Amino acid sequence: MRLAMQKIHGRPESMPTLIEIEGIAKTYQTADGVAVRAVDSVSCSIGSGEFISLLGPSGCGKSTLMMMMAGLLAPSEGQILFKGQPVHEPLKDFGVVFQDAILLPWRNVIANVELPQEILGMTKNRRRDLAEKMIQLVGLSGFEKKFPHELSGGMQQRVAIARALSLNPSLILMDEPFGALDAMTREQLNLELQRISLETGATVIFVTHSIAEAAFLSDRVFVMSGRPSTVREIVPIDIPRPRDIDLLSSDRLGGYITHLRRLLDGKDGH
Ligand code: ADP
Repeated sequence: MRLAMQKIHGRPESMPTLIEIEGIAKTYQTADGVAVRAVDSVSCSIGSGEFISLLGPSGCGKSTLMMMMAGLLAPSEGQILFKGQPVHEPLKDFGVVFQDAILLPWRNVIANVELPQEILGMTKNRRRDLAEKMIQLVGLSGFEKKFPHELSGGMQQRVAIARALSLNPSLILMDEPFGALDAMTREQLNLELQRISLETGATVIFVTHSIAEAAFLSDRVFVMSGRPSTVREIVPIDIPRPRDIDLLSSDRLGGYITHLRRLLDGKDGH
């Protein structure tokens, strides 16, 4: 009994809750009047500093769920609590990274990283200071004055990560951030992201199509069903972080990967 109480869906009880999701659902109304049920009855809680991956078929509602967590989209049913408070508008305390870096081509690296702080009206000295710290954190020191076209795809994504971190958020949303990168760059950035998430202590919600990436990076993987999507199973990856890249070819992680693949293929008897 005590053992069962120690974990909430596989999350250590000692970890403070950042997000509480209570029975949320989302139905979109299309322009021609058709109702699209994208997400159906999702309830879960996410801890401060946790790394969570959302894994599921294309179009199943992963982005919709993530956008609702940040208050960018209102649920049709249920509610979300962030640090105990109901979410009714976009959070002030989050950063986001998409598959494309979406940098402003006429701004150099540091000016791109400073953009969110500039929008909030932070003084130049303060934002420069913070931006330089974040550029260092993502391993781009020395590239501050370069323009996006002078950088590789992987470096541009590092800039996007630095920009997402620039307000020191407690939540980072990442929507397939490495989907457009080659395999070696992707592996390198997985390691960097692991280090960054542990150093900053931010909670990361990570959407990916890669089962191995989800298993390698996450404290817990939320396996989602096809539309209307719900969290079908929460799989805790009980391997301490930081994890070594060699883990990717190990039987230990391989067991999780096989389990996750079977869940996604519907071969788990559900
Ligand atoms: P995923 O991120 O898993 O690929 P999404 O959350 O983007 O899925 O979309 C879930 C479903 O909701 C899809 O079928 C998509 O077509 C539909 N959808 C997303 N946004 C809208 C919208 N604004 N209006 C109508 N349907 C939408």
